[in-house]
This record gives sequence, C-alpha cells and structure tokens, in this order.
Amino acid sequence: MDFVLSNEQKALQESVRQFAQKELPDIAKELEQNDESVSVELRKRFAMLGYLGINLDSKYGGAGMTHLDAVIVLEEVAKISIAVAFPIFESCFGPSLAVAHFGNDKMRKEVLPKVCSGEIVLAVSMSEPNAGSALTDLATQAKVEDNKVILNGTKRWCSGAGHSEAYIVYCRMDNIQGAKGIGAVLVSKGTEGFSFGKREQHMGFRGVHSADMYFDDVEVSTDDILVPAGGFGKLMDAFDLERCGNTTMSLAVAQSAFDYVLDYCQQREQFGKPLIDFQAVQIHIAEMKMKLEAARLLLYRAVVNAEKGLPSIAESSIAKCFANETVREVTGKAMQLMGGYGYSTEFPIEQKLRDAWGWGIAGGSIDIQKVNISAALVGRRFNQRAK
Ligand SMILES: Cc1cc2nc3c(=O)[nH]c(=O)nc-3n(C[C@H](O)[C@H](O)[C@H](O)COP(=O)(O)OP(=O)(O)OC[C@H]3O[C@@H](n4cnc5c(N)ncnc54)[C@H](O)[C@@H]3O)c2cc1C
Repeated sequence: MDFVLSNEQKALQESVRQFAQKELPDIAKELEQNDESVSVELRKRFAMLGYLGINLDSKYGGAGMTHLDAVIVLEEVAKISIAVAFPIFESCFGPSLAVAHFGNDKMRKEVLPKVCSGEIVLAVSMSEPNAGSALTDLATQAKVEDNKVILNGTKRWCSGAGHSEAYIVYCRMDNIQGAKGIGAVLVSKGTEGFSFGKREQHMGFRGVHSADMYFDDVEVSTDDILVPAGGFGKLMDAFDLERCGNTTMSLAVAQSAFDYVLDYCQQREQFGKPLIDFQAVQIHIAEMKMKLEAARLLLYRAVVNAEKGLPSIAESSIAKCFANETVREVTGKAMQLMGGYGYSTEFPIEQKLRDAWGWGIAGGSIDIQKVNISAALVGRRFNQRAK
C-alpha cells in the first residue's frame, strides 16, 4: 500500500494547478455572475491540454491514463469552481465511461472522440418528475420498432440540459415493468421532437444548465441503444464511477474553502492577535483537515481499486457519502470562521457553500447511499417498496 502520489502524478497535479490558478478564476467568475456554462472555446482548450477523457482509451481520443489521474486533474480545476470543471467531470466520470464500457463499437467511435476533443458534452438523464430516489419507477417509454427506437416522456434535473450536445437517456423499453425494463439510449440535441423546458434556478450550481427535457415521438436508431432492457445493472456499475466524480467535486470545493479560510485565519486579527491563535479556531481547523484527509483517502481507495474497470458500489458510495457530508461541514465552518466576510458575496466562501449542498442530492441522496452501503455489507438489496 502506497499513500504517496508518483512523481508523474505530482507533476500532473502541479501543472494543472498552475494552469487553473492562472487562467480560470476570471472565467469562473463570469460563469457564476452570468450563470453561463463553459464555452466551446474553453472546452477545446481543455482538450488540447489533455484534460478531457484523460482516463479514456487513446484509440478514442483519451489519454489512456488512470482514474486517479482524472481525479487529480478534476480536483485542481474544480477548486476554482464546479461550473468551470463541469466538462472535465462529464468526460472523465460521466456517461462517456458507460459508453466506453458498454456501448457498441459504432457508438464508441462516434461519441468518445467528440467528447475528448471538446466538440460535445455528453450528459446523463435519469431522473424524472416522479422518479428520483425511486429511479426504477421511471416512465419515459422507448418503443423498439424494426431498426428504430421511439421515445416519449419527460426528464428532470439533468445537469447540462439544454446546453450539452448529447444525452444518455434512461428509459423503459417496450413497456417492461420494474428494473428489468430499463435501458438507455443516446439522443442528440436537435433531434426532432426533443425539446427543453425553462431553465431551472438552483441555490448553487450556477453555470450548470438544468431544465426539463421533453421527448415527443423522438426517433433514434437502434444503433443508439447504449444498453437494452435488462441493462440497468450495467448502468449502475458505470454510475459507481460517476459517484467518484461527484466525490472529487465535493472534495475540491471543501479543500479550496479550507485553503482559503486557513490563510484568512492567519491574516485576520481580533483582540490583537490572528484568529488562528484562538484555541477554538484551531480545533475547527483541525476537524476540517481530518475530514478532508479521510475523504481524500476514501476517494483514492475507490478509484485505485477500480483501475482495471469500475469501482465497487460500497467503496464509491462510502466515498461519496463521506465527501458530501464533509463539504457541507467544511464550507459551513469556513463561512462561520470568516464572520460577516464569509457571508458576503465579495468573498468566495458563500458560493462554495451553495455549490457544496447540491452534491449530496445529485447522483443519489446521502441517505440512499447509506442504504446502498448497508445493502453491500449484508449482501442483499433492501426492498424500499415493502409495506
Ligand atoms: C445539483 C443537482 C444535479 C443533478 N444532476 C442530475 C443529472 O445530471 N441527471 C439526473 O438524471 N439527475 C440529476 N439530479 C437529480 C438527482 O439525482 C435527484 O434529485 C436525486 O436522486 C433525488 O431524487 P428527488 O430529487 O426526486 O428526491 P426524492 O427521491 O423525492 O427524495 C427526497 C428525500 O427523501 C429521501 N428518501 C427517498 N426515498 C428514501 C428511502 N427509501 N429511504 C430513505 N430516504 C429516502 C431522500 O434521501 C431525500 O432526502 C440532480 C440533482 C441535483 C440537486
């Protein structure tokens, strides 16, 4: 067991950190102020730097590097803001990984090089108005007829909705009930019958589009089926890696809030001495640091153990849950330690606190993850529907 990054990983971390800290803060500020998503121009810049799909196979335009390398890159960029890091999150941990693992050859060749070059962002659309935690209740219908799939239904909360060029849409195929009827298809923006509702406003996540998505007799080819009915288990296996991306985003927000407040506590003086000289402040700082270190180790364990494929549900859920709770706690403490300045929009912490909260809802709520963890411990799923 080795708890030290390799020299190559340290060099990667340093180079991404330098780029991010020099080039991204002004852009991130604009995205936040104007609630705009990352431009295609910046996506292409990320692609040139090799940040998109860093853990995808080089034959599809990726860098063929490890999930841990992807974590390192995503963390440094997401420390600036989650919105600016979103295309990296999607390309390294989002549905592209499901395409890489389970898509047909044609789909992989068509989609992945475009993701890695920044031409498209591929988003994941699972949730519906009446299917959130109870995802297997999803009702979007996919009827397979000859070589076509016809989609009808409404999706909700998809991050990137309206802005992303392509979507992996979870759907119920041929009206088969329960989890065994769930499959997923690839749908491009602009396909006839596919439209978006009004832009949703969240507490945080500014710069990440969200809107309802409507499918009205939308026709795609059977080649666009990522997994047919019966493939829900595969989708969830790929989603175990998405959880590690969520964990990385949480960690990045928490770490950057911590770095900021640690510095602040050494600069800000009250009662004639720096805040850090007060023991109660020291205890808060130590508690934040302990949680951050633990979250980082859980994340690294989940991705390193998954290097040859996808993480386990237990390790990715434990990492996600812990990081989701940590980021809420750390950003809350950071705000409190900064007093009125923490609450002011002139300083970065209030945005970090707003962004922090969403990660414990996105990708499955904290409590649902905890149910997953207990299920993994006893080796069986708990029936949430039993009366
Ligand atoms: C910022 C953000 C980004 C998102 N991005 C995406 C995306 O890209 N794609 C996508 O498809 N979806 C996305 N979502 C949706 C997200 O996956 C759902 O919001 C989430 O799964 C919870 O579903 P829900 O909102 O319907 O809440 P509900 O399922 O109604 O849950 C409400 C509360 O009840 C609790 N609860 C429900 N069932 C149980 C149970 N059996 N046991 C214990 N507690 C329970 C939950 O823990 C939660 O606290 C995003 C959400 C957010 C906030």
